[in-house]
This record gives sequence, structure tokens and C-alpha cells, in this order.
Amino acid sequence: MPRCLHIFDSGFQCIGEALDPTDFCEAHQRVVAFESDRLEDSVWRKTLLRFVALILLVMFLIPLFYTLRDLYFGPPVKAQEVW
Ligand SMILES: [Zn+2]
Repeated sequence: MPRCLHIFDSGFQCIGEALDPTDFCEAHQRVVAFESDRLEDSVWRKTLLRFVALILLVMFLIPLFYTLRDLYFGPPVKAQEVW
């Protein structure tokens, strides 16, 4: 049986056995599959992050819009009568 091609951070090759000479053992095949899942997860995270950023932007812009509208286009503020 050929050895797994995975190299640990320490520099040693995995002692696991692979079915194919250019393949990994079962444990490291799972790691590769997990990384592809994480890649997909990061795409979802980016989309969610953009969505949240858009919401925050709108939440910030709405009061700003009303403030500017009242400031420049609103009815003139009547002076309060002070007794
Ligand atoms: Zn391995």
C-alpha cells in the first residue's frame, strides 16, 4: 500500500496508507473535504457580512436623511413661548 502524501507541519510524512499513490489516507481526505466546506462557508459569510453592512448603512443613512430634510426643507421651527 502506498503511503499518504500528507506532510505534517513538523515535516514528517503521514504514516497512513492510501489506496492510490497520488492520494491521501482516509483521515487526510476528510481534511481536504472539510477545507472545501470552509471555502463555501466563507462565501456565505461574505454574503452575510455584506448584507449586515448594507443594513447598518441604511440604519445610519435614514436618520441622516431625516435630519438633513428637516434642516433644509422642513417647516420653519417656531420659537417657543417662554413664560
Ligand atoms: Zn494521511
